[in-house]
Amino acid sequence: MSDDLRRQLWHQLEGLRSAGVQFVGKIHDLPPIPAVRAQASEQPLKAVSQAVPQIAAVQQPEPRRLELRLLADRVSKCSRCPELASTRTQTVFGVGPLDPELCFLGEAPGADEDRQGQPFVGAAGQLLDRIIVAMGMKREEVYICNILRCRPPANRQPKPDESKNCREYLDAQLDLVRPRFICTLGATAAQNLLGTTIGVGKLRGTFRDYRGIPVLCTYHPASLLPSRSPEKKKDVWEDMKLLLAKMGKPIPVVGKKAEG
Ligand code: SF4
Repeated sequence: MSDDLRRQLWHQLEGLRSAGVQFVGKIHDLPPIPAVRAQASEQPLKAVSQAVPQIAAVQQPEPRRLELRLLADRVSKCSRCPELASTRTQTVFGVGPLDPELCFLGEAPGADEDRQGQPFVGAAGQLLDRIIVAMGMKREEVYICNILRCRPPANRQPKPDESKNCREYLDAQLDLVRPRFICTLGATAAQNLLGTTIGVGKLRGTFRDYRGIPVLCTYHPASLLPSRSPEKKKDVWEDMKLLLAKMGKPIPVVGKKAEG
């Protein structure tokens, strides 16, 4: 962890303490920050979760935000997947607010994401942005992350052991972010999150469950690009309408633009 981040974290903790937030005192149960730093590259994530159960269990967003930053910092040093750790430019943790209505979950960072450190910023990301706008929402309102936090070389599919390695991070991240709904994008995201081998074509159209959170599966935006299967855009829009209805949101007429 950088000195700057450590300073910011403790300033926020002090702010919480002076505001009278009672569980701030439990921060003292955490291992000292330098100890976390020393363990960062080799300590299994499980140790993180075990170290902060009281913080993870609280409802208030600020401690969760802090813990999410600690998790992102640990992820940035992760080398569980040697090939990915040695070829990535940086990790791509995820972006968006806490307690969002919706979390989009993709497969893994691509070249653009690896370069910018943000999920879904390339051509597929621009299409996802259009879908979000068509749904009557803003990108800043949704949380976006991936099964993997590192780019597989040449954008190959994640290997099973890589998805398994990164799963603890994903679970911890979603525990902290607490989306109300999850929409998986593509087969890798759906199958990994739900622990199934069923294809997206069969998974879509019905809500699934992840730890009590309703999950809707749809196609990955990359598969909708002109070079792939743009005809599937109408299927994705049908999925989004289903999602909006379940979320209790109106279905914007302008959403039909996403089909074009
Ligand atoms: S993909 Fe996940 S588990 Fe693998 S090295 Fe990157 S952060 Fe670590």
